[in-house]
Amino acid sequence: MAVLKADGYGHGADELAPLAVKAGASFIGVSSLEEGLALRAVKIKCPILVLGSIFPLSNYAVALNSGLTPIVASWEAAKVLDQTAKRLKKKAPFHLKVDTGMGRIGVSLRGAQSLLDRLKKLNHVRLEGVFSHFSSADTDPNTTFDQLKKFYNLRQVISDMGFKDVIFHMANSAALLRFPETHLNLVRPGISLYGVSYTDGGKSVKLAPVLTWRSKVVFLKKASIGTSISYNRTFVTTRESEIATLPVGYADGVPRSLSNKGAVLIKGHRCPIVGRVTMDQIMVDVTGLSVDVGDDVILIGKQGDEEITAAEFADWAHTIAYETFCGISKRVPRVMVK
Ligand SMILES: *Cc1c(COP(=O)(O)O)cnc(C)c1O
Repeated sequence: MAVLKADGYGHGADELAPLAVKAGASFIGVSSLEEGLALRAVKIKCPILVLGSIFPLSNYAVALNSGLTPIVASWEAAKVLDQTAKRLKKKAPFHLKVDTGMGRIGVSLRGAQSLLDRLKKLNHVRLEGVFSHFSSADTDPNTTFDQLKKFYNLRQVISDMGFKDVIFHMANSAALLRFPETHLNLVRPGISLYGVSYTDGGKSVKLAPVLTWRSKVVFLKKASIGTSISYNRTFVTTRESEIATLPVGYADGVPRSLSNKGAVLIKGHRCPIVGRVTMDQIMVDVTGLSVDVGDDVILIGKQGDEEITAAEFADWAHTIAYETFCGISKRVPRVMVK
């Protein structure tokens, strides 16, 4: 399953979905009905699992009418799905979401058993999959195997109950890359599809980043010693400086916390962000680099021998690459390079 929620982690799900299908994905994962409908609108035909809760439950009709596979995480939801499918004269496949320790959405292990016991009374739904989500696959093997064990036990119970051809799935990117035991019938990578390398000290899996975030130098000035840059004068030059202005700011997804902190690549060099990040622009120090207006700027990606990864960019803002990607706002054009 290619997880393309949040517009493909900000990359553009419309373009990525056909590529995922072509590359062999049998499912696409999205977070909401709206995201699923958006993919149906661009003619994506493959199974789409809506990973989040459907609310209100009457919206199950929307899912069924567009062939989106919903999750069920309570008996009440199963009943409403069954009634909805009956009314629409359909048999509705669904995936049961079980909470093995994430503490977000999912029926408890005991709840899952009693739900499945009662499921036989419902004639218009079909248990296509059962899944759960790891809380700490990237950081904590013990917790991960504890969750996995619970899920394996449930799988045994479900098979003893006579359910056939059920797809069991649990692995996110970290579990997929670290723990083959978690692979089961289907894996659900998100972040690794976008080429964020995995490292945990010892082990590492190097992946090729999908996204490069580019800008251009739009203004250049020489600043004498003592020149203040940007709001509130938090940066004052201590040497004769050349300062470039880039048309990208926090409204585009450069966090304001990168003020006087992050860097960009110009002419293959790291150029520090100086002064406050503003809504629409940032300034960087390009002293001695013979930069011209119009020169290419890399915010995330490679230039010459230098690279700023999404992980490093995220780290400057004390966050993770996921949030950085999702934070690149809609006004930044996405250009697909084949
Ligand atoms: C987001 C998500 C994934 C993908 O997680 P990554 O860490 O990006 O691989 C998988 N499953 C569920 C239920 C998710 O919400």
